[in-house]
Amino acid sequence: MCGIVGFTGTRPAQGILIEGLSRLEYRGYDSAGVAIYQDGKLEVVHRKGKVSSLAHTLGHFNFEGACGIGHTRWATHGRPSEANAHPHTSCDGRIAVVHNGIIENFADLREELQAAGHSFTSDTDTEVVPHLIEQALRDGAPDLLSAVRSACERLVGAYALAVVSADEPGTIVATRKDSPLVVGQGAEGAYVASDIIAMIDATRDVVVMNDGELAKLTPEGVTYYTAAGQVIEDPRVTHVDWNLDVAEKGGYPDFMLKEIHEQPRVIR
Ligand code: GLU
Repeated sequence: MCGIVGFTGTRPAQGILIEGLSRLEYRGYDSAGVAIYQDGKLEVVHRKGKVSSLAHTLGHFNFEGACGIGHTRWATHGRPSEANAHPHTSCDGRIAVVHNGIIENFADLREELQAAGHSFTSDTDTEVVPHLIEQALRDGAPDLLSAVRSACERLVGAYALAVVSADEPGTIVATRKDSPLVVGQGAEGAYVASDIIAMIDATRDVVVMNDGELAKLTPEGVTYYTAAGQVIEDPRVTHVDWNLDVAEKGGYPDFMLKEIHEQPRVIR
């Protein structure tokens, strides 16, 4: 399971995503990518190898869009390659998804979606997710949040997901099951990440999401929902008062101790 970062706010997302992904590099990864909303569509760029290579490519584009998601991938399904790097998109390219974890029933879902006319461009388990969301919208889901909710009802496995849609500019929908995800609100917008260190410069008040919960991030703020779709009125905010050096080690004095304490969760 590797890294996720997302931002929606009042500043261009590109630099924030690259900075966040760089903070997550310590986990190891094989490729990196972003999807940024700009001028009515999603600009998706991924590269095999380092975040610096992605940053170099993005430097040619300098996207101004203020909403986007980014990912560093540690391949579990499909070899490390540009085609398998996240974000993955729907057939029409209007939905993009980054995912940490493993979708165990992806083969059945892929077969079902292909039979319904969806075409796939990667070998990943992840790619079923944007197609399931697209299908949910075709089947009448009223918005991205509901479509992500109904897609997740079909998933077996572990996931942290961040999703954007060109049809809901400025919105990121995030959810998780058995894979960590935190959400925070800074002065310039809302952040989602798989690790607090990706957003610690912007905010120290974060919501550590529980399994099955969803978050809808917009430049105006974040709304949290239960798996059943009810608004969570009073989400539990955790204040982080570590400095960056300590935060990178999750509050532990060194990486070895952090990884020892992570073992129960990883094994589960
Ligand atoms: N299973 C997904 C893949 O192979 C996500 C891997 C990850 O967590 O980075 O693309």
